[in-house]
Amino acid sequence: MTQAVVLFGSPGSGKGTQAGLLKNCLRVPHISTGDMLREHIRAGNALGVKVASTMGSGALVRDDVVNRLVEDRLAQPDARDGFILDGYPRTSAQALHLCGWLDGRGIREVVIHLIVDYNVIVARLTGRRQCPRCGTLYNIVSSPPRVEGVCDLDGETLVLRDDDRESVILQRLAEYESQSRPLIEFFRKAGRRLYEIEATGQAPEALLQQVCRVIRSPEAGVAAEQG
Ligand code: ADP
Repeated sequence: MTQAVVLFGSPGSGKGTQAGLLKNCLRVPHISTGDMLREHIRAGNALGVKVASTMGSGALVRDDVVNRLVEDRLAQPDARDGFILDGYPRTSAQALHLCGWLDGRGIREVVIHLIVDYNVIVARLTGRRQCPRCGTLYNIVSSPPRVEGVCDLDGETLVLRDDDRESVILQRLAEYESQSRPLIEFFRKAGRRLYEIEATGQAPEALLQQVCRVIRSPEAGVAAEQG
């Protein structure tokens, strides 16, 4: 059986952190559209050049570009037994595309919506720092590195992501509200397997236990998991 997990939630809801922990449990790849797009920007290739200004402004990259990127990634051999999607789908066109892809292969997904308070999200995003080499995320308040401004793992100088500046954060959150949040209703109405987890204030490892529990629960349909 293919394990298809979709981690859904606002920017800063902890999808990336959960996906990183979960991939070690499930032994399937963590597929983050944001990371893939940033990788193209770093490589300076045609796609990277095309998406850089859109990402820098906090707007969403075009659906056809992202759909293609994900489809190519899902075709890689390491995704054969499953995958964790982080940051995809984010619009109804992407959700329809993904559902078609999954249904065409008889794969049943689990969508996990991580619910986090808005104020907590803003604090997390503004304090976020990332290692440009290994991608590890820190927060200057809640999870600082051992030495200020330096990655614990490889000693690289941490950076503020371009789109973690305050004006851009507000734009990203606005995009989430208008384009992505409505997908929860879409998943529900379409009878997809959707679980909602109250994640505010939960330590990543505790949240992981809950996420694993819902992934393993065999029953179909909509369920709510309270923290
Ligand atoms: P976050 O979830 O914190 O916003 P991501 O790394 O997932 O961070 O996304 C960063 C940016 O990458 C988004 O603001 C958007 O410009 C682009 N992006 C990532 N995933 C998608 C997607 N599925 N559709 C469109 N744009 C995307």
